[in-house]
Amino acid sequence: MAIKADYVWMDGQIINFADAKVHFLTHSLHYANAVFEGTRAYKAENGMAIFRLQDHTKRLLESAKITAITPPFSQKELEDAQIELLRRNKFNSNTYIRPLIFLGDGIMGIYHAKAPVRVGIAAWEWGAYLGEDGLNKGIKVCISSLMRNSTKANFNKAKASANYLNSMMAKYEAINSGYEEALMCDEEGFVAEGTGECFFMVKNGELITPPNDYALKSITQDTVLKIADDLGIEVVRRRISRDEIYVCDEAFFTGTAAEITPINSLDHRVIGNGSRGEITKKIQDAFFDIVYGRNEKYASWLTYI
Ligand code: PMP
Repeated sequence: MAIKADYVWMDGQIINFADAKVHFLTHSLHYANAVFEGTRAYKAENGMAIFRLQDHTKRLLESAKITAITPPFSQKELEDAQIELLRRNKFNSNTYIRPLIFLGDGIMGIYHAKAPVRVGIAAWEWGAYLGEDGLNKGIKVCISSLMRNSTKANFNKAKASANYLNSMMAKYEAINSGYEEALMCDEEGFVAEGTGECFFMVKNGELITPPNDYALKSITQDTVLKIADDLGIEVVRRRISRDEIYVCDEAFFTGTAAEITPINSLDHRVIGNGSRGEITKKIQDAFFDIVYGRNEKYASWLTYI
């Protein structure tokens, strides 16, 4: 699906898609201090609705604070901007929203604090990030040769552009080695996260996900933890080693883009039945019920356009 739309929101205004351009000397383009979000809007039962808009926008502003960027817009203004952008674009299918707070042109050099702060928001129709087949049958994953960004050197709680070089190199290595996604570990060899997803595994009916020590505080992971509670599935948050995954019953990734994507093998070891597991399916069904507005309990998570 092509990345296209009629309009983009930039610095407080809705402009034509083709006019959403920046100067070559845009500070963030050179030094990568920028923060962003990935939010989804679903064609829900009662119309297009943004999922957990407030939580995503809050994390965007927290990411900016962590990376010492002061955005010129409030949370409410940024939420309204995303709603307005979707209204104007009139998308027909599920949509992905990408706000980016970045440093514009005008100064150069590593000291960033005097650079102008700019904000852009784009949205486009986007299907399953890891493929429709991936959602149904699962994907082939490897442990990356790259360690996840260390908390000693990076701010992993920020959804910061700079963190994604690590993700990008891991993804590049995985795809070019014949896998569909990479799973990255921390410096002690315990699971951190995927290149853009959190990790869960199931063993003996227990759902296990690592703490967010080396990972983004994921909104989808939080959604899954609430679903598990509703379904009466026992959840444990603890470190996971690579070999444990080889012999687990089920495994899956969670993320706004990835939704709930089963993992059918890790490093060529088939996981469980080699397809989507039973508990994974239950969680996936409950997740799609929530995002499509079929679960009253979570109605407040949907912002209708
Ligand atoms: N980890 C990383 C590195 C990510 O990029 C993402 C996607 N935002 C996630 C985890 C999952 O976070 P969320 O569920 O909030 O999208």
